[in-house]
Amino acid sequence: MPRFTVRSALLLSAMAWAMAAPSRAVEVVRCLPSYAKPSASCVATGHVASGNWTLRSNVLVGDRLYVGGTVAVERTGKIGHVGCADGDSAEPAMLDCPGTITMAGLINLHEHLNYSTGHPLPPPAHPLASHRDWQRDPRLWPGQKVRRTGRRQPIGLVELRHLLSGTTTLAGRGQAKGLTRNPDAGWFPKVRNITFPFGRSALGAPVDCRSRRLVKVDRPTLVHAGEGVDAAARAELDCLLDNRAAYAQTEPLTLVHAIGVDDAMAARMAALHVSMLWSPRSNIELYGTTASVDVLMRNGVSVSLGTDWLPSGSPTLLAEARYARTVTPAGTGLSDQTLLDMMTVHPAAAIGMQGQLGVLQSGALADIVGLRLHGDVADATRDILAAQGQDTVFVLVGGRFKFAAQDVAGALGTFVEANDCVELPPGQCTPEGYVCGPRFLRHALARPDAQALLCPASPTGTWN
Ligand SMILES: [Zn+2]
Repeated sequence: MPRFTVRSALLLSAMAWAMAAPSRAVEVVRCLPSYAKPSASCVATGHVASGNWTLRSNVLVGDRLYVGGTVAVERTGKIGHVGCADGDSAEPAMLDCPGTITMAGLINLHEHLNYSTGHPLPPPAHPLASHRDWQRDPRLWPGQKVRRTGRRQPIGLVELRHLLSGTTTLAGRGQAKGLTRNPDAGWFPKVRNITFPFGRSALGAPVDCRSRRLVKVDRPTLVHAGEGVDAAARAELDCLLDNRAAYAQTEPLTLVHAIGVDDAMAARMAALHVSMLWSPRSNIELYGTTASVDVLMRNGVSVSLGTDWLPSGSPTLLAEARYARTVTPAGTGLSDQTLLDMMTVHPAAAIGMQGQLGVLQSGALADIVGLRLHGDVADATRDILAAQGQDTVFVLVGGRFKFAAQDVAGALGTFVEANDCVELPPGQCTPEGYVCGPRFLRHALARPDAQALLCPASPTGTWN
């Protein structure tokens, strides 16, 4: 099918979706009835004696929004009480943010940081059949000409781009130590991240998929498979599922791409506890189509969103979520809440960290994001999904500030350690404030290409 036809069909379905978007209602709990004030600044008060402090805001916990709710941030880097404060529980040091929506940090399990330091490439003239096309013949799509770097500064700026848009955990086959959590780069628990399970130059899956173990799934594993629309891509998926069944593997396994998944395969994935990593923008740019999220969800497969790489993917996870919405047919249960789940609780489970990441609850890691509230607090999920870079108010990883907007800076140095914070230079898509992290960022931010790495231009003029 010619490319423009696929795109036109997607656009029509997106318009239909917009008219019939299902919504999973958020239960609004008003701890302080007239607390929420759109765009109001944060105010820091008090001093920390114990290392613990309290964040008050409009706090989203799953399907529940606590207006004027509190999150206790403990010295240990974990979360204490969450919800309406019970009087005695609030610490004397408080960051009070009535103009902010507070939620769990986002989790992006599909990036290639060292390939995302360039710029988006034009799509191929015709949809490709599989990743082997561009690997074999860069004239079809210049995948092999994608700029790649192993250097810390540009990788750090790509990771910072994700952090500034609310991502606190990033499996990206690389890391900028001290920014996000990198579960595939030595962080506990370690996650195995495999790009070519059958070898980079292999023609496809082996014929016999049951006589030897193909993937050592002794820990949570992410594996690229089924990146394409040809028979070989489908055979990869069947092979990995056959292998998992033959070896009775139970550790979390996530298939990245799985473009050709159908009902039977989705049912098999669900039965084998295999989850899905969905990167619709990159799939549609390169192959003209993507997995049916409807089929996956109908069969009970846990779906997470990921950006893939900048040459064909999204610059941030929220941009990918907005893109996902535009390519999902009407009637699919892709509500705002479902999209948020795909960036929080589902990827947390995919790396065996359910209850620890992707959720604000007592005992979880204090990976917390604050975004500006613009409208009615009851529509907070809409503001989250519409958030652009300038809307980020704060990002905490393990209870430590990684980003603090100007109005949060009062907390830095009073009750929060202010070491290694540097002011972000003015940018087209970045918030005003301070980045706190590894020292090399100071030099990275002074690079002439820093703005292009933090705010890459869209090939069509605007991102979603
Ligand atoms: Zn990938």
